Amino acid sequence: MPIPDPALVVLVGASGSGKSTWAAARYRPEEVVSSDALRAVVGSGPADLDASDDAFAVLEAVVAARIGRHLTTVVDTLGFDPGRRRSWLAAARASGVPAVAVLVTAPDAVCRSRNALRDRPVPAKVLTQQLRQSARVQAELADDGWDEVLVVDTGDTEPSAGPVAPPPGPARATPGERTASTGVEVVLQLSRFPWGEDPFGWLRAMALAADEVGFSGIALMDHLVQVPQVGRAWDPIPEPWVALGALAGLGTGLRLGTLVTPVTFRPPGVTAKAAATLSALTGGRTFLGVGAGWWEREHAAFGVPFPPAAERLDDLDAAIRTMRALWAAGTKPYDDGHVALPETTCYPRPTSPVTVVVGGGGEHRTLRIAAELGDACNLTTTDPEVLSHKVSVLRRHCADLGRDEAEVAVTVLDVPVVGRDRDDVWARVERMRGRTSAATYAARSHAGTVGQHRERHAALAALGVSTVFLTTPDLAGPEDVLALADLVR
Ligand code: GDP
Ligand code: MG
Repeated sequence: MPIPDPALVVLVGASGSGKSTWAAARYRPEEVVSSDALRAVVGSGPADLDASDDAFAVLEAVVAARIGRHLTTVVDTLGFDPGRRRSWLAAARASGVPAVAVLVTAPDAVCRSRNALRDRPVPAKVLTQQLRQSARVQAELADDGWDEVLVVDTGDTEPSAGPVAPPPGPARATPGERTASTGVEVVLQLSRFPWGEDPFGWLRAMALAADEVGFSGIALMDHLVQVPQVGRAWDPIPEPWVALGALAGLGTGLRLGTLVTPVTFRPPGVTAKAAATLSALTGGRTFLGVGAGWWEREHAAFGVPFPPAAERLDDLDAAIRTMRALWAAGTKPYDDGHVALPETTCYPRPTSPVTVVVGGGGEHRTLRIAAELGDACNLTTTDPEVLSHKVSVLRRHCADLGRDEAEVAVTVLDVPVVGRDRDDVWARVERMRGRTSAATYAARSHAGTVGQHRERHAALAALGVSTVFLTTPDLAGPEDVLALADLVR
């Protein structure tokens, strides 16, 4: 059973039952607040019972401070005092942090023999009393009101990492199989380009790594100036069609495309031409993310007009019609009542249909355009509630328009913090959180291990998501791509 993270985790159990060992296998030392350790801090050592009051005063302060910051806190004491337990639980409730009690047990004889081996064993009579308390505390725990009560028996097991164990290391993906076993297709989204002195070498290394582990494709952002959500305005950001042309020459099996090309940047026919050319160069593995554009600054900086939103959405609608007309067979005139072209002479034609992914979650217009003209819509949320709402809006538009909803795929942009294990996840959060609190940043970025993200992707698949455009906020080199292997497995 997975333990929530962050959480308040209160250990309960007799001396020698294995509480501290259990905690050390799963949590960082700073996350565990232990009365024994604090006796050693404020007194002469872990067994200095005269220092108990002072140790508990510090312990209470640490628990209150950490829980107040929504940080995982493991309370390592005997846990038999119902008053203390309930006050920790109340603190967690007040902060909205899930609270779990973990009852650690081992057969009495095992606890006794472990105790006997200690430098300063607990007196036999005291241990007997603890073992009695341990036997009846489970009923009390059931009444305390924990979100979860876990019982861990350490009697006949090797000490081992349990529910929040680090995931297994990266495994090589089966070549040719481009839907992950989580049920989603995963496309690597490149949005930062820390390529140093060798732009093409970096792009090539990223693409080869993505191909090797089994990503289905690579998507490039289409911005004229690096956006503030990702980096600094003076960070390099390549023109995507040029860069995709370079990737097309690598001979990988990757699908290539943009996420998202604003209709404001180029006349739609010119974008259609670029996408058709890329399709010809890649043997038909091209997609086109297309949206209304949103960032006024890059338009102004490049002298590109930036009309009001309603007009840009009209342009988006017209652009998709224009591109589809130009990609269609033949050269005949086109007129659908919205867009008219005297001829549709666009060669090379795409080798196979270009997948049009409409970016943006605007419910009134963008999702309607996706429902009418797109092969997919791309949402920038992975929050299950918001996502299922958007999906239901999309499906309603499909029903209104008489479009088969199965023809409009749901894709998402996912930008999680991904770490090798809990320590690594935490180190990344600390590095990147800026002035945001660690707990908030971790929650917002779904910070977790690859295993946790696999579960999240499986949940997205269950909500109807077919493709995840995945990037991480600290994706810097091919080794970071290889570290994501298990997500595309
Ligand atoms: P605590 O007093 O409940 O904190 O217990 P500790 O975690 O300090 O463990 C007491 C002793 O039991 C140590 O010598 C541990 O190595 C041993 N121990 C703890 N957990 C396990 C376990 O899961 N399996 C085995 N075989 N020994 C354990
Ligand atoms: Mg202990």
